[in-house]
Amino acid sequence: MPTLHDHAHIGGQQLRPESLMMSYGYTPAWSEGAIKPPIFQTSTFVFDSAEQGKAYFELAYGLRQQGPDEEMGLIYSRLNNPSLEILEHRLTLWDGAEDAASFASGMAAISTTLLALLKPGDVVLHSEPVYGGSDFFLKNVLPKFGITAVGFRPTATPEELTAQVAGIEQGRLAMIFVETPANPTNHLVDLEACAALARQHGTSEHPIRLVVDNTFLGPVFQHPLKHGADVVLYSATKFLGGHSDLIAGAALASKPLMKEIKAMRTFMGTMCDPNTGWMLMRSLETLKLRMERAAQSAQIIADWLRAHPLVQRTYYLTHLEHCPAQQDIYRRHCLSPGSMISFDIKGGEPEAFRFLNALRLIKLAVSLGGTESLAEHPATMTHSDISVPEQAEMGITAQMIRLSIGVEDPRDLMLDLEQAFEAVGMVKARELELA
Ligand SMILES: *Cc1c(COP(=O)(O)O)cnc(C)c1O
Repeated sequence: MPTLHDHAHIGGQQLRPESLMMSYGYTPAWSEGAIKPPIFQTSTFVFDSAEQGKAYFELAYGLRQQGPDEEMGLIYSRLNNPSLEILEHRLTLWDGAEDAASFASGMAAISTTLLALLKPGDVVLHSEPVYGGSDFFLKNVLPKFGITAVGFRPTATPEELTAQVAGIEQGRLAMIFVETPANPTNHLVDLEACAALARQHGTSEHPIRLVVDNTFLGPVFQHPLKHGADVVLYSATKFLGGHSDLIAGAALASKPLMKEIKAMRTFMGTMCDPNTGWMLMRSLETLKLRMERAAQSAQIIADWLRAHPLVQRTYYLTHLEHCPAQQDIYRRHCLSPGSMISFDIKGGEPEAFRFLNALRLIKLAVSLGGTESLAEHPATMTHSDISVPEQAEMGITAQMIRLSIGVEDPRDLMLDLEQAFEAVGMVKARELELA
């Protein structure tokens, strides 16, 4: 039987992830020669013998060490399922991870991982802003379990961050949780600096784990494990799924850490279902094509927006000339600026709303990373839970519009954006006349 290594190499050469997404970890002979793996729509698996069932359960509950050539067998779909195992093997390739786990949602991946790696009395230091669901989980759910979340501002200098870590009681800091680029400002956090802090202040008894939500640029354009992260998390609902037709999540890490995370997944029941896992595998085949095309279009559109007379400023990862420190992080961490653009329209909320209401091809919706382009107003939608003064500190303005660029022709997207700007301009002119 071909091994995973055989699947991934030709003549000793490692093949690239995009070349392996159609075949890795699956052998057609398992399924009547079917070129695609079937959906293993089953809750349970039949054992060959009682002895085999006993052996699988011993491994599942960690009652004995796994033998050198022993494979974990299939028991029950909350623990493992072939559709998910193939998906998880494929997911490891992009980030260069030892192991992966798929989840029912991005929030399932985040909450399960945090509960697996934290215990009462621990402190989590986290970047701000983070995704609204993560923010709520950190600030309102973890405290119920005696875990304290402490935020750091995107503008914190390395010295300020060091001082913040030094201020936490010895042995209590257990995790640094980072989302970079930050939503919706595209602000970057220095993962290498965070990893150095975690190593400096952690011990083998009290390790500090660096956990990174890589939904915005990963897994094609940013690889946090290569910059010192211990765990990478995804909302697979976004780019990985990529068609706005499923909700899923993923976690990637070393084998020992994934063992802890998968154990928590088993007991919380937060795994992905086989059908969604299969849909994700289909999406992974075009992941790089989609992300590259969207990023190419986004670069064109961001440059065009920056020069537009009704645009005050853009927030885009190749528009960082004003901030050399951010530019430096971008050069070290990111392979592309990606396809998320935010910009401030001239005026305030009324102008932003007129603009959003006038869009025709681009849909007014939250979420991101799909084939279709989307626009939304962070201050009153995705980030409305954050108080206005805190929004200001995070750089979220009333006139900010966030765009997720899809795979449409960028010329058509600009046609739509331009007619929406014209609608804002026309209404403005009429108001002035009336005045
Ligand atoms: C959407 C999102 C999440 C949550 O993922 P779900 O799949 O909606 O649960 C987490 N982090 C980021 C950065 C996201 O964009």
